[in-house]
Amino acid sequence: MSRTVYVNGEYVAEEDAKISVFDRGFLMADGVYEVTSVLDGKLIDFEGHQVRLNRSLNELEMDAPVSDDDLLEIHRKLVELNDVTEGLVYLQVTRGAADRDFAYPKGVAPSLVMFTQSKNVVNSPAVSTGIKVISIDDLRWGRRDIKTVQLLYPAMGKMMAKAAGCDDAWMVEDGFVTEGTSNNAYIVKDGKIITRQLSNDILSGITRAAVLRFAVEAQMEVVERPFTIDEVKDADEAFITSATTFVQGVVEMDGVAIGTGKPGEIALRLREIYLDESRKKAI
Ligand code: PMP
Repeated sequence: MSRTVYVNGEYVAEEDAKISVFDRGFLMADGVYEVTSVLDGKLIDFEGHQVRLNRSLNELEMDAPVSDDDLLEIHRKLVELNDVTEGLVYLQVTRGAADRDFAYPKGVAPSLVMFTQSKNVVNSPAVSTGIKVISIDDLRWGRRDIKTVQLLYPAMGKMMAKAAGCDDAWMVEDGFVTEGTSNNAYIVKDGKIITRQLSNDILSGITRAAVLRFAVEAQMEVVERPFTIDEVKDADEAFITSATTFVQGVVEMDGVAIGTGKPGEIALRLREIYLDESRKKAI
């Protein structure tokens, strides 16, 4: 069945949606994106995604294509038009279409494309089995704090993981884990939740911010510092967070079982708290 998608002010059938071949998103990956999950037909953590989008745009000196209020309105309308009860809304802003030139063009309107994907995000099989990861070098650029559409290396990382019979890859730089290909990475040791501190090296996950807040509220100890692959293999638990996986246990690193080899208690508890609290605040 054809979806209705949003392209630069219009709601159109997906097969009629068009973007210029001169769009800098297409030519240069000159664009940023956000993914907001939908539960019970409502948006999870919308404000966090909006704030991060505006920050990404600002860092790249790109204009916002629509106001914050309009952006929320478009999200809601797409969810309604496509009858999404569970899934996600994807949004992408690019610098727009202009003659190919490395310098940012002046006076060009940014492009805004949005679409929905219906899928079961809450009851995925990986919740009970956990996921297996491999470690790979982090060969991405140095501004991973900006959520750009340059996703080729993360895509290669997923393919390396698949080739190894695993689900994802955790990237390593200077001996320390940065993050997963599309998620933030955590270990648990002696009751402490350990995750890399924010910097240009990783994306400031919206789910990360919420989960760390809930962890502290639930009297869990959180330590923000880099950790090594040896620490992962020796951890009691490991997990990831992202807007569409929420909190998911990681049960194997480079072929070595982590903890009991099943999703850990802390990860499962944080997942429950995150889902409960986020549903309450969904808009
Ligand atoms: N790190 C990377 C590299 C990501 O791509 C993502 C998800 N897009 C995240 C972390 C998690 O961010 P969020 O919780 O906002 O989805």
